[in-house]
Amino acid sequence: MHVVLIGPPGFGKGTQARHFAERLGIPSISSGDLFRAHFRDGTLLGRQAKKYMDSGALVPDHITMAMVKARIAAEDAAAGFLLDGFPRNVHQAVLLDGMLAVQGRRLDHVLALKVSTTEVERRLAGRRACQSCNLVVNVNFAPPRVSGACDTCGGRLIRREGDRERIIRRRLAACTERTAPLLVRYAALGILANVDAVGPVEDVRARILAAVPALAGAGA
Ligand SMILES: [Zn+2]
Repeated sequence: MHVVLIGPPGFGKGTQARHFAERLGIPSISSGDLFRAHFRDGTLLGRQAKKYMDSGALVPDHITMAMVKARIAAEDAAAGFLLDGFPRNVHQAVLLDGMLAVQGRRLDHVLALKVSTTEVERRLAGRRACQSCNLVVNVNFAPPRVSGACDTCGGRLIRREGDRERIIRRRLAACTERTAPLLVRYAALGILANVDAVGPVEDVRARILAAVPALAGAGA
């Protein structure tokens, strides 16, 4: 089974990826893990990627996809894989299809986890930080026992609208913009399933299974 999971960071995508990969007996491959492994082993691809990142540039697709190519050729990926976080754009998707076709393989399912802008704003609006211990909580999802006070140390919870919020907004907007053409492409191929990613992990998991029953694996 060859699966691609697309969605913004920070909404349990990694958790779902690991769950379904384990269920299907295939490796879950995230771009973060892939890059970290190459940095750790000091590979040529890793050193090349680092040069771009250190200069604040995006790592070119051919470097990322060379890492993917090597990873999916590994023995544990012979029966398939679940890609978490790429392809990131249509160019990478075309490269991926090419490398799979050479091996007589193709993608079976592309799962797009969707998060509405309203929901993102609700989450951001609920974020509070403790003035004393810096613990970050979300009063919309896990209200403190005493309103306005930190559960851990009793310190005052304040709203800190700063870099982090701006980064999250910018990242989500960029993700939506970047993945839109990708979703059009996979929809045209008839392998795209859209799933609402907002809610408890178990609920999202159930929605994923309802959308793509094949992800239940052989055991179910
Ligand atoms: Zn505190």
